[in-house]
Amino acid sequence: MNVLVINAGSSSLKYQLMDPDTGAVSAKGLCERIGIDGRLTHKVPGRENVVADIAMPTHSEAIQSVLDILVDPANGVIRSTDEIDAVGHRVLHGGMAFTESCLIDDACIAAIEKCIPLGPLHNPANLMGIRACQAVMPNKPQVAVFDTAFHMTMPPKAYIYAIPYEYYEKDDVRRYGFHGTSHRYVSARALELMGRASNPEGTKIICCHLGNGSSLSACKDGKVVDTTMGLGPLAGVPMGTRCGDIDATILEYLMGRYGYDIKTMLNILNKKSGVLGISGVSSDFRDLDEAAAQGNERAQLALDKFIYEVKKDIGAYAAAMGGVDAIVFTAGVGENSMDLRAKLVEGLEYMGVKMDLEKNKTRGVEAEVQAADSKVKLFVIPTNEELMIAKDTAALAR
Ligand code: AMP
Repeated sequence: MNVLVINAGSSSLKYQLMDPDTGAVSAKGLCERIGIDGRLTHKVPGRENVVADIAMPTHSEAIQSVLDILVDPANGVIRSTDEIDAVGHRVLHGGMAFTESCLIDDACIAAIEKCIPLGPLHNPANLMGIRACQAVMPNKPQVAVFDTAFHMTMPPKAYIYAIPYEYYEKDDVRRYGFHGTSHRYVSARALELMGRASNPEGTKIICCHLGNGSSLSACKDGKVVDTTMGLGPLAGVPMGTRCGDIDATILEYLMGRYGYDIKTMLNILNKKSGVLGISGVSSDFRDLDEAAAQGNERAQLALDKFIYEVKKDIGAYAAAMGGVDAIVFTAGVGENSMDLRAKLVEGLEYMGVKMDLEKNKTRGVEAEVQAADSKVKLFVIPTNEELMIAKDTAALAR
């Protein structure tokens, strides 16, 4: 079976053609500058990348260019689009309507539209991707996979905000959480590695998705009981450019001092904050490591702040679950930065966490890195959100 996985942003669209059963990716790529001019980068394992400037006034032309290159005799991997069995879409916000993935029909689209106020930056772009695929492939089953869905098992005490209850009742203001597809993939994989996939009751896993965007989840019995992101993806630990949790008083204070409107203020909190904001150097953790190694104190402070906040949330989730059996590290930083992983668990011996620093010398591959006498397992698990999307899509399309 071939599933085309689509992740549509406002001016970009990522795609992967994959077999949901084996996870084999036959082609993947990226459309950029949609609505400006348009560029396609197409990658097939074992072949040279193809980069082509193609006019993409809307997402429809972008999708069409993806289909064209997939069937192209020289650069393609299939003979005709008939060989695409179904299309899976990553959708950011499913609100309270979606606790799992869903086959796209008019009701599903209407529900995604209703979530636009909750995900104003992403949901409209995700919908453009869906509509473009419907236009060029009207008869293919399409599935929406939500970033929020896996977190919908949280209990009320974890998702409610301590503001007047009417805003929850009338306006759906609550914690939703994001990166859900990644948390679902790595927590399920951790359960497999623990030999508990068919018997998750009683397990306590903390998943640390640490990349440009970062979030943690506490998974008890295989289900999320808490996560760090909130109504939107700005909350939780500090990120590449996002501030994470801050005191709301800061908004009023800075807006008053500098005359910022809310849009300017949110742009600062989304795009100019996080480790970039503290360091003034970069949002990229490799740049920060390099700068800190050369003695840049603010780069070091940004790293220290990130490590401190992630470590605090690990402690919080162990407290919330009454212990922890396994901690999982995933995404760009979690999979690749051995130094940061080591610092995150430094001093957690009192919780039964002990890392084998030799085993931890691993990058981008699945590994178990706890010491022999550690009570808590430590896993590095490369995330694979596309595979989860492809599997959900195949299951619903079948
Ligand atoms: P992601 O958003 O999951 O793609 O993660 C991107 C982040 O991972 C960037 O900040 C990268 O600097 C970081 N990253 C990738 N490789 C490494 C590495 N070897 N050491 C530290 N950070 C890394």
